[in-house]
Amino acid sequence: MSLFNAVVSKTIMHVPGPVVGFFAKPYIAGETLEDSVNVTKDLNRQGIMATIDILGEFIKTLDEATFFKNHCLEIQKAINREGLDANLSLKPTQLGLELDKQACFDNIREIVALAASLKNFVRIDMEDVTTTDDTLDFFRRLREEFPGHVGTVLQAYLRRTSRDIDALSDGLLNFRLCKGIYNEPRLHAYKDPAVINNNYTYCLEKLFQKKAYVGIATHDEKLVFEALRLIDAARSG
Ligand SMILES: Cc1cc2nc3c(=O)[nH]c(=O)nc-3n(C[C@H](O)[C@H](O)[C@H](O)COP(=O)(O)OP(=O)(O)OC[C@H]3O[C@@H](n4cnc5c(N)ncnc54)[C@H](O)[C@@H]3O)c2cc1C
Repeated sequence: MSLFNAVVSKTIMHVPGPVVGFFAKPYIAGETLEDSVNVTKDLNRQGIMATIDILGEFIKTLDEATFFKNHCLEIQKAINREGLDANLSLKPTQLGLELDKQACFDNIREIVALAASLKNFVRIDMEDVTTTDDTLDFFRRLREEFPGHVGTVLQAYLRRTSRDIDALSDGLLNFRLCKGIYNEPRLHAYKDPAVINNNYTYCLEKLFQKKAYVGIATHDEKLVFEALRLIDAARSG
C-alpha cells in the first residue's frame, strides 16, 4: 500500500503502475507508514505542515473498507506518537461509501473520534460529484459532534459550490478549496479554466467573509496571487 501526501486522480487506476509512479512521484511520501512519518518529519523541519492520504479509492468489499479504516487509525496514532505537525486526509469511497453509506459514516466517525481524542484533525477529501451530497452530509454531522476536528473540501469547478457554502454556514466552516480533479459533466461543472478561476476567487472571498478556515490548495500562480490579495484586503479592512 502506498501512502500519499496529495490527491491522485481516480484515472490512475487504469494506468500501469510504473507510469503512475513516474507522474505521481512528487506527491508520494512512500510505500509504508514509516516512509510517510520520515517525509513528514523532513517537511516539518522545513516549517511545512503535512496532510497524509492513503492511495486506493476503488474497493469492492466492506472488509477492504475496514482495512483502510485501520490504516487511517494507525496514521492518526503515528502522528500523535511522533509529534508530527500533520493531519489525515481520507476518501469516503475508500471507506465504503459506494457499498454502504452507514458503514462508511461509522468508519469515518471512528477515525474522527480518535483524531478528536488526540486533539488532531481529519479532512474528508472530495471525490467525484456522485459523492458530494454524502460527503457534505458527513461533514455536517461530524462537525456537530467533533467541532474543530473535521473539515472537508470544496471544488471550484462545481456550479453548486457557492450554494454549498451558504447552506453550510450555520456551523463551523473548515474547508480545503481546490479547483477539482475529476472529469465532471458540464451539467455540474464549469469547463472554462477562466470561469473556474473566477469561481475559485469568488468562493474564497465568500469563505473569508464568513470567517471560515480555508486551506488554499492550488499551484496556480494567478490564484495564489488572488488569495494573497484577498488576505491582505481582509487584514487591512
Ligand atoms: C493539497 C491538495 C489537495 C487536493 N485535494 C483535492 C480533493 O480533495 N478533491 C479534488 O477533486 N481535488 C483535489 N486536489 C486537486 C485540485 O483539485 C487540482 O486538480 C490540482 O491541484 C491542479 O489544479 P491547480 O489549482 O493546482 O492548478 P492547475 O490548473 O493544474 O495549474 C494552473 C497553472 O499552474 C501551473 N502549475 C501547476 N503546477 C505547478 C507547480 N507545482 N508550481 C508552479 N506552477 C504550477 C500550471 O503550469 C498552470 O499554468 C488537491 C490539490 C492539492 C494541492
